[in-house]
Amino acid sequence: QADIKSILSKLGIHAGNAAFSTGSHWGGESNAKSLESFSPVDGKIIATAKMATPADYETIIAKAQEAFVYWRTIPAPKRGEIVRQFGDALRANKEALGSLVSYEMGKSLQEGFGEVQEMIDICDFAVGLSRQLYGLTMHSERPSHRMYEQWHPLGIVGIISAFNFPVAVWSWNAALALVCGNVCIWKPSEKTPLTGIACQHIITKVFEANNIPEGVSSLIIGDREVGELMTNDGRVPLISATGSTRMGKAVAAAVGARLGKSLLELGGNNAIIISEHADLDMSLIGAVFGAVGTAGQRCTSTRRLIIHESVYDAFKEKLVKAYGQIRIGDPLDQSNHVGPLIDTDAVAAYLDSIEKCKAEGGNFVVEGGVLEGAAYSSGCYVKPCIAEVKNEYKIVQHETFAPILYLIKYKTLDEAIALQNGVPQGLSSAIMTLNLREAEQFLSAQGSDCGIANVNIGTSGAEIGGAFGGEKETGGGRESGSDAWRAYMRRQTNTINYSNTLPLAQGIKFDL
Ligand code: NAD
Repeated sequence: QADIKSILSKLGIHAGNAAFSTGSHWGGESNAKSLESFSPVDGKIIATAKMATPADYETIIAKAQEAFVYWRTIPAPKRGEIVRQFGDALRANKEALGSLVSYEMGKSLQEGFGEVQEMIDICDFAVGLSRQLYGLTMHSERPSHRMYEQWHPLGIVGIISAFNFPVAVWSWNAALALVCGNVCIWKPSEKTPLTGIACQHIITKVFEANNIPEGVSSLIIGDREVGELMTNDGRVPLISATGSTRMGKAVAAAVGARLGKSLLELGGNNAIIISEHADLDMSLIGAVFGAVGTAGQRCTSTRRLIIHESVYDAFKEKLVKAYGQIRIGDPLDQSNHVGPLIDTDAVAAYLDSIEKCKAEGGNFVVEGGVLEGAAYSSGCYVKPCIAEVKNEYKIVQHETFAPILYLIKYKTLDEAIALQNGVPQGLSSAIMTLNLREAEQFLSAQGSDCGIANVNIGTSGAEIGGAFGGEKETGGGRESGSDAWRAYMRRQTNTINYSNTLPLAQGIKFDL
């Protein structure tokens, strides 16, 4: 059982009704709607917060605009130094913050710590990046001319995040956006406000120690309506939104209507192809961790296994045996593999998907169901289950955010790749094979259509060094490593004439 009081006190959180923070300043209108932080671990209300009102939002925007004028003048490596200190503050708070993530969101303690580690890693990455915001130089077609490009910050970056990675997704965006010279406004998921408040306390202390003014990194608490204040606001040039495809379509429409930029990280429907050339024991670990880790609530969770007919029965048997050994319970108890779903609405969606799957002809080889009893009093603990299905079932085409794993049989690799690609989403994918030809075909242009394609690794658990994101209904955005930083900057092409004439491009003559 988590000693939540001591965790909150270590993180500097005291009971309060704040709806926003621009740094040291926490505020909110007293008559605003309340928001409860509910723990799916034991069903308790951990704390309440207020939802920001449009007036609160205006206060934040004003501070952020003011802060941007200052922050953009700070050299990028100096901004990187602040992010380095933020990474150190996260190291110091890893245990407390990781435990709060586990308690408020319900993922296992190890995954809670892993999430904070990911935040630390992205800070390290951003520090190095702060000296590498490179632009290209080009040769001009005109004599005594020089051409090059520079990358400038955009201004205010609005970050809207989902409940399942309640803190890491913010840091992926914020660490990069900040070294790029932007200021950030973060709206965490209404299902996990407390972890957001904890992060704001941590980063604020770093800013205070460095005399950074208010507004460089702000927090706003609220639901969809608060998110819409940002998506409809021309003063927020970039919206980075992580969540369901439904949300992404609404955000893209709102931001697109004002020709703003959006970076979308939406749902996945990820598959592993298990070939006849696979190492089946290794595949088993990848498949089971991918399907039941975080109770199937990762955007990269394994939802479908596409298995070669010659190993189908043998692999199914291994899976069923492995599922029999999964321990479900309090995620803060490290002997458990699987914790609860985020809330009882998620449980209802899980049950509904099982019914729909059965109605379409799905054959459950491991049955699902809701767990009951004193250890499961929150009503959020469910059994991971497995069904044999056809890829074209409506329910299989849909991302259910729960531990339901679908098995599909294939004969040829071409068929397996077509099945893997035959869903509206395009986030993560994998093939388990020791055959070079198969692996290369899967990674080629005729292969996986996803943003992430792995060989002999499952679909979940990406490293921060690569660009993260997916195609089709996953939204097309890329975050985190590689050159994802460019999404947070604007490109400017500069041409400088150091001759004493004014030659025009394309050889055009214009004499006066
Ligand atoms: P959700 O879509 O319900 O909510 C996500 C966030 O969007 C919340 O902060 C919510 O308040 C906000 N929001 C909802 N509608 C909005 C609107 N119209 N305008 C502005 N903001 C709005 O998602 P969730 O249930 O919290 O998270 C689960 C989903 O997130 C899954 O689909 C999962 O695959 C996806 N996800 C994707 C990634 C990725 O990187 N691709 C990462 C994590 C989660």
